[in-house]
Amino acid sequence: PQLDPEALVAGLNGPQRDAVTHAGSPLLIVAGAGSGKTRVLTHRIAYLLAARDVHPGQVIAITFTNKAAGEMKERVAALVGNRARLMWVSTFHSACVRILRAEHDHAGLKSTFSIYDADDSRRLMQLVARELDLDPKRHPARGLATQVSNLKNELVDPETFAARAKGPMERAVAEAYTLYQRRLKEAHALDFDDLIMTTVHLFQSHPHVAENYRRRFRHVLVDEYQDTNHAQYQLIKELVSGTEGLEPAELCVVGDADQSIYAFRGATIRNILEFERDYKDARTIMLEQNYRSTQTILNAANAVISRNPSRKPKRLWSDQGAGESIVGYVADTEHAEADWVAREIDRLTDDTDARPGDVAVFYRTNAQSRVFEEVFIRVGLPYKVVGGVRFYERREVRDALAYLRAIVNDDDTVSIRRIMNTPRRGIGDRAEGAVEALSSRDRISFGAAMRRAADAPGISSRAVNGIGDFVALLEGLRELSETAPPEEVLEATLTRSGYLAELEESTDPQDAGRVENLQELVSVAREFTERVEGNDEQATLAGFLEQVALVADADQIPSDDPDHQGVVTLMTLHTAKGLEFPIVFLTGLEDGVFPHMRALGDNNELEEERRLAYVGITRARQRLYLSRAVTRSAWGAPSYNPTSRFIAELPEELVRWERTEGSYTSWSGTGGGVGNRGGSGASGGAARGGGFSGGTPKAAALAQRLGIDGSKLSTASELRQAAPKVAVGDRVNHQRYGLGRVLAVEGQGPSARAQIDFGDQTMWLVLRHAPVEKI
Ligand code: ATP
Ligand code: MG
Repeated sequence: PQLDPEALVAGLNGPQRDAVTHAGSPLLIVAGAGSGKTRVLTHRIAYLLAARDVHPGQVIAITFTNKAAGEMKERVAALVGNRARLMWVSTFHSACVRILRAEHDHAGLKSTFSIYDADDSRRLMQLVARELDLDPKRHPARGLATQVSNLKNELVDPETFAARAKGPMERAVAEAYTLYQRRLKEAHALDFDDLIMTTVHLFQSHPHVAENYRRRFRHVLVDEYQDTNHAQYQLIKELVSGTEGLEPAELCVVGDADQSIYAFRGATIRNILEFERDYKDARTIMLEQNYRSTQTILNAANAVISRNPSRKPKRLWSDQGAGESIVGYVADTEHAEADWVAREIDRLTDDTDARPGDVAVFYRTNAQSRVFEEVFIRVGLPYKVVGGVRFYERREVRDALAYLRAIVNDDDTVSIRRIMNTPRRGIGDRAEGAVEALSSRDRISFGAAMRRAADAPGISSRAVNGIGDFVALLEGLRELSETAPPEEVLEATLTRSGYLAELEESTDPQDAGRVENLQELVSVAREFTERVEGNDEQATLAGFLEQVALVADADQIPSDDPDHQGVVTLMTLHTAKGLEFPIVFLTGLEDGVFPHMRALGDNNELEEERRLAYVGITRARQRLYLSRAVTRSAWGAPSYNPTSRFIAELPEELVRWERTEGSYTSWSGTGGGVGNRGGSGASGGAARGGGFSGGTPKAAALAQRLGIDGSKLSTASELRQAAPKVAVGDRVNHQRYGLGRVLAVEGQGPSARAQIDFGDQTMWLVLRHAPVEKI
């Protein structure tokens, strides 16, 4: 460990050094991408310990993802050694969970409270909306959940909002918010937004609690400050307030207004713009040298972002020279675009010293990953999707976690109801409704009502038996959890419930993949136990659930694979924040895709999309590729998209077009031609010299991970036939539209379509494209 303060600042430029050594007043570092903001933060922490005699326990550093937190901790540990363990380096959410667990008495919570993620919140909101008899067309649960989330991010509680709500729309939201909050409380659960809001309220209503943390944390550091929302802002303010006889803690925040991309989540660059107003004696430091990218890449980034009118002009420069040209490509279809990307990655790994792990492919929306996955599987290119098909969002994983949460927290109604009839135990919707009726009639929890199921009005004896079995199952597991580590409880859950047996007996090839995912979850639990016990602490089920609940998308980026080649990373632009890659493909550059359809015609949204483009471009270190498709099927129907305005905003001389629109062979498809798309894929296979012949080992492994029978997988079109099979009456979940019910099914294989009622709208979707999952 290098504890010589001089050495810590030796590799920094002037302003970076000032930022690291500054003392005595709040510090704001505003600077463009890749200028070393995160690096300054880590060096500053090390410097505090080395030169200013700060104890690691007095430091709290907040970042945006768990991955970023882990990296920061590692970097600091590399500088100061093991002492880094005593610091709090975490996301806002993790920090709040930690505080709320410790202070649960003061916050009026059970120590084992559950954490509901976005999907759980939506489910709960659905129950609430139904209970309130709100018209699902006018008040879809998803919309209500978003509005409630916005209110929480603004720290508006239900009473306050109810008092000011005007008109039937707002009054419906107020009613839903109130009941939703009551249900959460009964379930001893907090949703993600509550974690922050509750902590702020705790500090405000219990000054002595706040004071303890103020005494403890003398240094508060925040990365990606531009994306904090009002609640988070307030939390920081509480932490750094002075109290009687106590100087305020030192605050250091770093951010870039040009990278603010979460306005839709209540993040507001106001926090940056008004920092100086709110913290009177604050010092501001600007960084202008970029250490990440070539000048060509920076020129492109500068050109795009300078189109945003209401920004402080700033220019980034790099001393790395012009570097490679940006390469552009116009493909006929999204499949041809993906082929080109795969081919180019292949060429780079053959002709240069690039490895797959150096490459990232970015796109605007999760659904776009699917085409890349198909092509990459076909050509055997190892890849990882961050977000989208997230492990923790898979049905089987969520079911298993719902069991564990029901075991830990008997009041967790959403979890209990999710799995009470999974696998089937003869407890239908009617029986579930009867238990619910009993619980509201006698004002007891749903769990308590289950134990008295025989009293439920109009319940069948079959259902009473099923519920009896279920209650006994949970109680047995609860007992086990008092002594056994999480992985054992999980394994017992899967076997005793019959869940695993059902999957193992199934002939559906996807179920084999599900079994693997569950095995993977058991490994996750085992790793958790090993880690916790390695610190001489006890591994509890509640602790495990807490870790799982806080895992963000970005945590799934692989650090390294055994042969050190790494894998190509596929991710949305939003997930890419703060990261860097030697080679970046920015795809789908079409008006209506990126910028997103929603943003066309709305200047504020368009500015946010442009900041997102700036984030994307500035992730690249050496090579940047831009691509688009002339036609792309959107939800089953082909659409023609004009070129993205962001491309038009680039100076022409920066981009070398490898293929332009004029050179595409005429697209002969008609509305009915959806089955022919595989045709354009052939070129990609050919370029590999026919290297893909029915499954390389890697392709097979990937196919297996996706739950697809890899041995039979030889062409992209066959792969597409693995589209989810659904039948009339099935309940499905769609990545974008949420829960729905299948009304009709037509056609087979790649052209199978289904008509789905999503409550607020009904639509036909081509199943092989549509991200729907049977639930
Ligand atoms: P972003 O806005 O994308 O989050 P950032 O401002 O946080 O970027 P960093 O990630 O800290 O930038 O730094 C970008 C890259 O430049 C990193 O690889 C970092 O190690 C390197 N870097 C930063 N400062 C220096 C320096 N003074 N000397 C050498 N390399 C540096
Ligand atoms: Mg950073």
